Amino acid sequence: MVLRHPDGPSGLHRDIIANPLFSREPLQLPRHKLSATEINPDTAYQIVHDELMLDGNARLNLATFVGTWMEPQARVLMAECADKNMIDKDEYPQTAVLENRCVAILADLWHAPDPEGAVGCSTTGSSEAGMLAGLALKRRWQQRRRAAGLACDRPNLVMGSNVQVCWEKFANYFEVEPRYVPMEGDRFHLGADEAAALCDENTVGVVAVLGSTFDGSYEPVADICASLDALRARGGPDVPVHVDGASGAMVAPFLDPDLAWDFRLPRVASINTSGHKYGLVYPGIGWVLWRDAASLPKELIFNVNYLGGEMPTFALNFSRPGAQVVAQYYTFLRLGFEGFRRVQQGCRDVATYLSSQVARLGPFELLTRGDELPVFAFRIRADETRFTVFEVSRALRERGWLVPAYTFPANRTDLAVLRVVVRNGFSHDLADLLLADLSRACERLGQGTASADASASAFHH
Ligand SMILES: *Cc1c(COP(=O)(O)O)cnc(C)c1O
Repeated sequence: MVLRHPDGPSGLHRDIIANPLFSREPLQLPRHKLSATEINPDTAYQIVHDELMLDGNARLNLATFVGTWMEPQARVLMAECADKNMIDKDEYPQTAVLENRCVAILADLWHAPDPEGAVGCSTTGSSEAGMLAGLALKRRWQQRRRAAGLACDRPNLVMGSNVQVCWEKFANYFEVEPRYVPMEGDRFHLGADEAAALCDENTVGVVAVLGSTFDGSYEPVADICASLDALRARGGPDVPVHVDGASGAMVAPFLDPDLAWDFRLPRVASINTSGHKYGLVYPGIGWVLWRDAASLPKELIFNVNYLGGEMPTFALNFSRPGAQVVAQYYTFLRLGFEGFRRVQQGCRDVATYLSSQVARLGPFELLTRGDELPVFAFRIRADETRFTVFEVSRALRERGWLVPAYTFPANRTDLAVLRVVVRNGFSHDLADLLLADLSRACERLGQGTASADASASAFHH
């Protein structure tokens, strides 16, 4: 983590030299401390706006899972709600009502046994949602242990080595021993028997990921639950499961309705998702739900008596923007089940098309096809030794595409891949443009003349 980000090249002026609206008296402002006096808002806007032109184009960012396109109407609603604080539920009671409706919609979508009885809340994202779900697991385990007169000072959480960093964070911040099941051979995520094998009386829960950020694959949630059922039947511990559905919990209900990964499985105690991923909202919003009130220990809930009302809350933050919650409700209302299904199917169609074309280019081999999450990872074939995934990633960047290259975690750190995340707004046409650039990049890299050629072709076009 970077607490202080380096501020560009070292030759950068300490001061900002601005030329207001490119015609007025030039002006000089300190870059790293407040200037003594105010400046004109138009000038301030111009300076900030222009500097941000150096950020990449969000729509060409195939690294992120986070929403980069919303309808203009949603943007208007968000702007209208920019001043609403989510915690002021007494002041903005209707925003609080919309939050509750979203929880009810998700409880229904995820087959809570009694959707009325499911509890949940919005968060800033899946990370905060994961912290809350993890805390609930830990606290429930402590209660069980205390009631039985057993020690509860060494909790552990079992998960795959492919979990998103939020689970390492949870383990670190909340002092729970993380137990990672490593990847093995062609198993790039958590295996059911491997998960059960790491559980003991101190296991607060197992985290199953739908789907993995490394390759877009779904973890076998039902098999994991079955293995834990078998462990229990053998007289072992009774271990609950949390499903990290940051992406998949908003994909599987629409595209894989027969896949039981959710509250249909009695062992699934809680589920989180990122509203700002396949929930189709701009960052930052997440959701976490528990299958019933018994799954969320009451003492974790604070009754906030603030600005005139009593409100139960479970959150790490206090103040938080309300606009994202409103935008989430807008997407639910606007798209309905069929609208969501069509958007997610569109992403899956583009992802599977793109992966099949990448496989045909020659140098690449697919790890996944984009038929679970609309996300696929591919590596360079063993017999293609002229370039690496890192060089391909850099070459694509010359055209503005952000396609990350990275190595896998234990025990497959030998494996380096490229990954493409297809999101709403990444059309077939953009996919074809990416393919053309990928094909050209491979040709150039193969000839070992990457940079020289890039400037030549830019000149000719
Ligand atoms: C993105 C992601 C997270 C973290 O979610 P944020 O909403 O970015 O906090 C956690 N788990 C998985 C599987 C993810 O894909």
